[in-house]
Amino acid sequence: MEISGGPIYSIGRYVCYTYARYNPSVDAHTPEWFDALRRLDPEQAAMTAQIIKLAGHSDVCSICGEPRSKPYIMVAEPALPIRLCDDCLRIQKEMHGASFDPL
Ligand SMILES: [Zn+2]
Repeated sequence: MEISGGPIYSIGRYVCYTYARYNPSVDAHTPEWFDALRRLDPEQAAMTAQIIKLAGHSDVCSICGEPRSKPYIMVAEPALPIRLCDDCLRIQKEMHGASFDPL
């Protein structure tokens, strides 16, 4: 995997690398988003795809599949959009020190 720099964030128990070629304007869970995440973190991309398949729709938390989730963007350049439930948002902040802004 080729990484051209940028901060490293954990998503769940996987690591997501943000990198310069990523386009932060794409929404979470779109085909473009999956293309980008697949290059960054294939395991997390496969896991999120499975979560969405099981849920039957894409308005779920990117990490755990909780329907009560909201769109966020990572506070970092380049930012990765993501959907998070309140629990996953808290875990990301407390355990991984990641910051997110609501979209
Ligand atoms: Zn969650």
